[in-house]
Amino acid sequence: MLSITTDYAKDTGDPSPYLKHIAEAGFSHTHWCHHWNTDFLYSKWEIDQIQKWLDEYGLQVLDLHGSAGAEKAWASAEEHQRLAGVELVHNRIEMTARLGADVVIMHVPHDPASVTIRRSLDELESAARKHHVRIAIENGDFAAIGKLLSEYDPQYLGLCYDSGHGNKGEPGLDHLELLKDRLISVHLHDNDGTGDQHKPLFTGTVDWQRLARIMAESSYVKCVSMELSMRNAGFEDETAFLRKAFEDGTTFANMIAEHKRS
Ligand SMILES: [Zn+2]
Repeated sequence: MLSITTDYAKDTGDPSPYLKHIAEAGFSHTHWCHHWNTDFLYSKWEIDQIQKWLDEYGLQVLDLHGSAGAEKAWASAEEHQRLAGVELVHNRIEMTARLGADVVIMHVPHDPASVTIRRSLDELESAARKHHVRIAIENGDFAAIGKLLSEYDPQYLGLCYDSGHGNKGEPGLDHLELLKDRLISVHLHDNDGTGDQHKPLFTGTVDWQRLARIMAESSYVKCVSMELSMRNAGFEDETAFLRKAFEDGTTFANMIAEHKRS
């Protein structure tokens, strides 16, 4: 089992060519990342069509990147904008459940004391529980995330560890070590420490051996999930890019398995 993001080439427009190519490359799962930062509301008709494509290609959704919004913004201080943002996240929770997945990944403000984000999380909790979907907060600022996780039930709120974000600035793996029992989603990719480059695994300065060990000891039970950008990986050919991603993902999954055995 292995997963890659839907938006390795584009994050808006018709997703079906990418779903097809992901399945053809051997991946069992995909991380739904289309429209991850837009105000786009998915309709019933669009979700039904996505499910038909997934069935046709033999692919499953692992988890889904929700949208903190552009104008519909769940942490906004403007109440109408915040409520529209809550509606947008609610849309993604329902979509996730209908596509058979159970985690929506969200970004939160850097302010550890943000009142608006707590208001929005409180308002979304019953819908999330009803649909058996958890929200995973992506790093981000660990001071804000650690505080939120301490205030909410693990059955509702968990952590998404983005290995690229964790490799620039903050010592991400040190923070992950402390919060590993809340880990429910991963965005795996690499960089050289200077920016969020979404490069292939093992091509930058992420300490993959340490990350594999922490993941093996964590609450994360799903497969290796990569959030790569084909352009930043230096590939023009989609098939070659996906083949390489599959190889790297398999190597990292074996590293995690090795740590679980020892
Ligand atoms: Zn990410």
